[in-house]
Amino acid sequence: KASLPPLKSIQANIHDYAAAKNREIETLQKNETFRREFIADISHELKTPIFAAQGYIHTLMDGAVEDHAVRDKFLNRAAKSLNNLEDLVQDLITLNQIESGFIRFHPINFDLKESILEVMEQLEGKAQKKGISMTFRYEKEASYQSYADKDKIFRVLQNLVSNAIKYNKEAGSVTIQLNAHKNHLTVKVKDQGIGIQPEDLKRIFERFYRVEKSRSRENGGTGLGLAIVKHILEGHQSKIAVSSTPGKGSVFSFELPHASKVLEVQGAKSKK
Ligand code: ADP
Repeated sequence: KASLPPLKSIQANIHDYAAAKNREIETLQKNETFRREFIADISHELKTPIFAAQGYIHTLMDGAVEDHAVRDKFLNRAAKSLNNLEDLVQDLITLNQIESGFIRFHPINFDLKESILEVMEQLEGKAQKKGISMTFRYEKEASYQSYADKDKIFRVLQNLVSNAIKYNKEAGSVTIQLNAHKNHLTVKVKDQGIGIQPEDLKRIFERFYRVEKSRSRENGGTGLGLAIVKHILEGHQSKIAVSSTPGKGSVFSFELPHASKVLEVQGAKSKK
């Protein structure tokens, strides 16, 4: 006749099972809270540009349209709000795709120096408007071939350089430094801007976290840029580092693999 396990061991099993179930419930509850907060955040963020555009349009309809100068000003502002809305939706789609693992990374061999030059060219107008000078430091002789997802790294560079301009002081400067090491490349984006307080520094990579909401929105910020940057670099087994002195400026930096190193490793593998 089979003997029953001792009562103590049955009790212990039940106890373990209950504890595991409790942990599961806690995780589900946390996810649910996170989801609810995220939806509340999104709704709020979407409402801001929509309300602004509606406001301008209603003012125009109430008679402001008669005065041509006022009409142009309000139409421009309404258009700007709708552009912000479009950027926000685009960033949300990107973030969602990355977080759900839907986006694939397609690494290729490309010249990181060229990407930086292209981003600088694209943002030159924005910098000039604020009287900001941009400097790019690199060594003429060095090879800056990187093995990474070119388009996504372009996005990272766009975000960091555009922030360095947005949060800079009038007539400040932005310095981008590219260094080649044996196995990797380092990019540093330095500004002379408002800087970031230590308590904010920990949180700026969270979605929708902004130190100054109004300033960020005024500049067309969505509050999602750095969250996207962080995810893209994680997708490359890299990460973003930041150091900042309030009132003086910030430095954002990251590393990418050097193409020659990757090809060497791949070559070694294929020889085996
Ligand atoms: P945003 O679209 O608001 O710029 P980001 O995710 O790119 O959103 O950045 C989050 C917040 O981090 C910004 O709102 C700003 O407060 C702060 N921040 C980002 N870059 C800088 C910088 N170079 N200098 C100072 N503050 C910055």
